[in-house]
Amino acid sequence: MNFRRLENADLDNKTALVRVDFNVPVGEGGGITDDTRLRAAVPTIQALQKAGAKVVLLSHFGRPKGEVNPALSLGFLTEPLSALIGAPVAFCSDLTGQAARDAVNAMSPGDVLLMENTRFLPGETTNNPKLSSEVATLGDVFIHDAFSAAHRAHMSSSGLADHLPSFAGLAMERELDHLSQALEHPKSPVMAVVGGAKVSTKIDLLQNLVSKLDILVIGGGMANTFLAAKGVNVGASLCEHDLTDMARKIMAAAANASCEIMLPIDVVVAKEFKAHPESRVCTPDAVGSDEMILDAGPETVNAIADAMDRAKTLIWNGPLGAFELQPFDTATVEAALYGAKRTRKGKLVSVAGGGDTVAALNHAGASNDFTFISTAGGAFLEWMEGKALPGVKAISD
Ligand code: AMP
Repeated sequence: MNFRRLENADLDNKTALVRVDFNVPVGEGGGITDDTRLRAAVPTIQALQKAGAKVVLLSHFGRPKGEVNPALSLGFLTEPLSALIGAPVAFCSDLTGQAARDAVNAMSPGDVLLMENTRFLPGETTNNPKLSSEVATLGDVFIHDAFSAAHRAHMSSSGLADHLPSFAGLAMERELDHLSQALEHPKSPVMAVVGGAKVSTKIDLLQNLVSKLDILVIGGGMANTFLAAKGVNVGASLCEHDLTDMARKIMAAAANASCEIMLPIDVVVAKEFKAHPESRVCTPDAVGSDEMILDAGPETVNAIADAMDRAKTLIWNGPLGAFELQPFDTATVEAALYGAKRTRKGKLVSVAGGGDTVAALNHAGASNDFTFISTAGGAFLEWMEGKALPGVKAISD
């Protein structure tokens, strides 16, 4: 993928406006419960400090909808961030006006300044050009390091690039390099596992993937809609009957593009949606009218493992069953562990992301062995849909 990298930026004694994603999870006491997002920004911050830049950090936090909301201030992050980078982090409670200019003017090379929640400003989410030109005057260069916000055409993730030379930060660079390895320039055969609850949320994604893949495994609740489209009675299973025509269209497009679609050949069914109910394995056409398909069966997992043996690239989004309820996590866990094993052996490049996928792969204990797991939800899905992301456009040639 052609994008501008940090190593090519002129940073010495320059003020870098850096878009990070500090939309961290917060516990009841108001503290951070998971600092992954802070840690993700550290390499870029330290690289900028080393290069002699003044580092001005911009992030959204929650949804204040263009109004100042003290409960959504970013001020509480200066301490934990400072501990991670081993240097002081100053805070400025305004992103515009004299206070912002004074705070930036007071900086020396290597200093780090965290600005207040970008979404306190009404022009942030509307990408108001007046706002972006005003904020841009604070800096010399724009560094985008928040892939998870790259699907938004907001002032801080896209608008600033209209006024400043713009480059990817190191986290963004890592993300784009891996994503491009999976779908833009992958080693063939390429397969994807797409699971999750509903077809309705993944129509664009499936349509884009069938034109690019050799093998598409469809699992989870969404597989039921495809089975129904083939005339199978899925009983009381989650199924979007109004989308069976769409499922047939996707299957026809796959056939045209020589993409093999793999649906479950056996399933695990139960009469109750809860952990450890009475359950049994059967073929999809033997599901009783009062039974629900809650997982793929062992033969299906074997078939997925065989496909992984043939594939050189694997993209994964969504669980193969109702993985939060045991034992309906089995197919997801076993298939993920097999993908992890093939990756460990150097036989497979495996990239996963979006929604519940990170939780499912963590639960499986497979995350560490996957080549790359994207923690970006919406941006990962839009990338899988083949959409141009405004935040990526901002740093592209
Ligand atoms: P998504 O957010 O679309 O990736 O969907 C994830 C959700 O799909 C998880 O909460 C799973 O429990 C659910 N899911 C997966 N398979 C099934 C199934 N066969 N029946 C009901 N829910 C399912």
